[in-house]
Amino acid sequence: MSSNDRVIVLGCGMGGLAVSSLLAERAPKASITIVEQKKIFEFPPSFPLLAMGRREPGKVRRPLYVSKKRKVRLVNDRVGSIETSSRTVKTGSEELRYDHLVISMGVEYSPGDVPGLEKYAHQFYDFESAMKLRDALENLDGGKLAIGISRLPIKCPVAPYGLALLLQDHFARAKKKVSMEFFTPEPHPAPAAGPVIGKQVERLLAARGIAFRPKVKLSKVEKDKVVFEGKTELPYDLLIVVPPHKCPSAVVEAGLTDSSGWVPVSPQTLATRFERVYAIGDVTAIETPHAHVPFLPKSGSFALGQAEVVANNIAMSITGKGERKIWDGTGSCFLEVNRGESAMLRGEFLSNPPRLEFHPPRRKWQVEKTKLEEYWMTHRF
Ligand SMILES: Cc1cc2nc3c(=O)[nH]c(=O)nc-3n(C[C@H](O)[C@H](O)[C@H](O)COP(=O)(O)OP(=O)(O)OC[C@H]3O[C@@H](n4cnc5c(N)ncnc54)[C@H](O)[C@@H]3O)c2cc1C
Repeated sequence: MSSNDRVIVLGCGMGGLAVSSLLAERAPKASITIVEQKKIFEFPPSFPLLAMGRREPGKVRRPLYVSKKRKVRLVNDRVGSIETSSRTVKTGSEELRYDHLVISMGVEYSPGDVPGLEKYAHQFYDFESAMKLRDALENLDGGKLAIGISRLPIKCPVAPYGLALLLQDHFARAKKKVSMEFFTPEPHPAPAAGPVIGKQVERLLAARGIAFRPKVKLSKVEKDKVVFEGKTELPYDLLIVVPPHKCPSAVVEAGLTDSSGWVPVSPQTLATRFERVYAIGDVTAIETPHAHVPFLPKSGSFALGQAEVVANNIAMSITGKGERKIWDGTGSCFLEVNRGESAMLRGEFLSNPPRLEFHPPRRKWQVEKTKLEEYWMTHRF
């Protein structure tokens, strides 16, 4: 009889950690191997606070290890290739065979796509860059701050708006004169949530004097200005830009992506077009049934919900117990606006029309976001 209990999880960020820990609980006899290139687990939703000096590094990252109680093996290496025909994954040191494969490798950044971006712009989408930005912000005494999005899609599309709002609050408290302008290729903030919610976020920017320039595509960055297609320009003293995202090369080379550049999956089961291969989180492209945006945004709350479904269904296949689950497109995110308050957006993003709620800034959403950080920073295999 062929084996059915070897599960390989590629990537141990939010999706990979969730799927492997849930699977270890639900199918204790499964042989679970996780391949992750980093030796740490990070909580990216706290990178804006890290950049602003409101979180210390130890609060947003921790060593990655597997509890001895679990039958989970962590291979600390880079995924080199994925071969769906032979059900094999090759790392720098090993060749691993799977019965079920879960791809949760997130995104790679591609700053070289925009001339001058890497040289002149700061960003906060990875730990090291957020730490560099922290120094730059500490040394900024005033002037023009430009903040924006270079290309779509990006992870957590409200995060750059949150950073802009937090920075405005920060500079106002520090009595520093900083004028801010936000630029983006989007028609309005949080496009997946539709124009009505987008307008509410725009109002938050306007109420704090942050200028907003939508529908612009960055063509290059120079030492003291950004240039958009059509040759309009924006001068800056400090520039923060979310870099272009792309699908990790090993996933593309395995033939798992389509013309979207990402991995198409069944929205309900997260199955790819290859047998026993699932993809969750940022690496996926999930078509929406409504006209707001063609694909669902990339978000940790989606990765978690998808991990629950995939872990449940693989556990069911291995143990023969339980009931199959389907994913319903539910997700949420917080938009931190100042030291004490966050707004909150949540809903069912796959219903048509999407059923979405925008909750204005309150203390209680800030408390919920801090709880989420605690959950992820203490969550283990
Ligand atoms: C600044 C910021 C703020 C955010 N705020 C929020 C928020 O408030 N709420 C929310 O829900 N989401 C938020 N997100 C998005 C959230 O972090 C991601 O959606 C989530 O991490 C996706 O999980 P994932 O498992 O798909 O990818 P990741 O968590 O990125 O994990 C991918 C893992 O794969 C590993 N990997 C990649 N390639 C290889 C390889 N070749 N070999 C081995 N390992 C590899 C990586 O090292 C990484 O550990 C935010 C993101 C950022 C950057």
